[in-house]
Amino acid sequence: MKIRLQDLTKQYRHTTAVNNLNLDINSGEFLVVLGSSGSGKSTTLNMLAGLESPTSGYLFFDEHIVNHLSPGERDVALVFQNYALYPHMKVCDNIAFPLRIRKENNIDKKVFEMADMLGLNSMMRKYPKELSGGERQRVALARALVRNPQVFLMDEPLSNLDARLRLSARMELKKLQRDRNITTVYVTHDQTEALTLGDRIAIMDKGTIQQIGAPNEIYQKPQNIFVAGFIGTPPMNMAQIKIYDLHAFNIGGVTVEFPVLLPNKKDLILGIRPEKLTIVPPNTPFAIPGKIEHIEYLGSESVCHVEITKNMTWYVKGNGGEETKTGEQVGLQFSPEDAHWFDPVTGERIAF
Ligand code: ADP
Repeated sequence: MKIRLQDLTKQYRHTTAVNNLNLDINSGEFLVVLGSSGSGKSTTLNMLAGLESPTSGYLFFDEHIVNHLSPGERDVALVFQNYALYPHMKVCDNIAFPLRIRKENNIDKKVFEMADMLGLNSMMRKYPKELSGGERQRVALARALVRNPQVFLMDEPLSNLDARLRLSARMELKKLQRDRNITTVYVTHDQTEALTLGDRIAIMDKGTIQQIGAPNEIYQKPQNIFVAGFIGTPPMNMAQIKIYDLHAFNIGGVTVEFPVLLPNKKDLILGIRPEKLTIVPPNTPFAIPGKIEHIEYLGSESVCHVEITKNMTWYVKGNGGEETKTGEQVGLQFSPEDAHWFDPVTGERIAF
């Protein structure tokens, strides 16, 4: 089932929650909608589910407009953050419930197949209160998936799990979706989830989509400064620079030589990912001067906070073996091909 959102808008009294959204989701695709709180993700998902009706615009499932269809008529399975299992029913009955109300055939077989897939066999006779959070989440997934829906809609379904469980649930979910080829829309504010789960990610801000693309495309070629700053931990280092001639730029009052020709513009925003910067001795050619402010040791890697000016600190991600000390003067070097350039007025990426 492919899905199309066409000029979709949801207006509440004082808020435009979703603003003229256009999005095509391919059949069998795992699309993640990523954004911070209030960006319009849940409203979008709720309109897809039929829980909210659009103020204007159209929703298509394959070639058919579904705006007027109720959630039940859309054949979508929903999993939310606060999934509720029926507390008085055993796991097997919870999973079987959607099949029983639809009076389907071979219910036991379908239930046990699904339980097998999600590793729930040993707990079929238990009640929800006897299960851990992660087990309950898997039961909720099983219940949503058991009737082989055309579309799977999920809103932060893993956020109640602890970090280790979330990792394994993510893998299970991805495998399940791939095996069964169900078109999936998954809402999250967690960029790691988005990058690991999505075939494509749609990044939302203020009710609009900022960029849609495969995870590596979004990471390597952010379309604007919003996306550049949103994806990546620590975030991309950015600074407004002035270009004097095509061989040198000014950053925070300091002139830095550049080994290749710079873009032919006067004012630009330069962005460099923390892992693309190398700490070198001060006064090394082509390096941005700075002072080590703080070193965060994270086990396999470390993050150095380097003060470029009083108001500008850049992050450098390394493998933990740096010989640097707090307070030391250093240079920050990067390869020209790792520089991202943005227009300071529009915030859009400049191809260079
Ligand atoms: P997200 O899921 O990204 O956190 P939402 O889609 O829930 O964002 O909300 C987007 C915006 O719409 C927010 O500003 C929110 O306050 C507003 N909003 C959501 N639902 C309602 C509602 N029922 N009535 C009024 N405003 C709402």
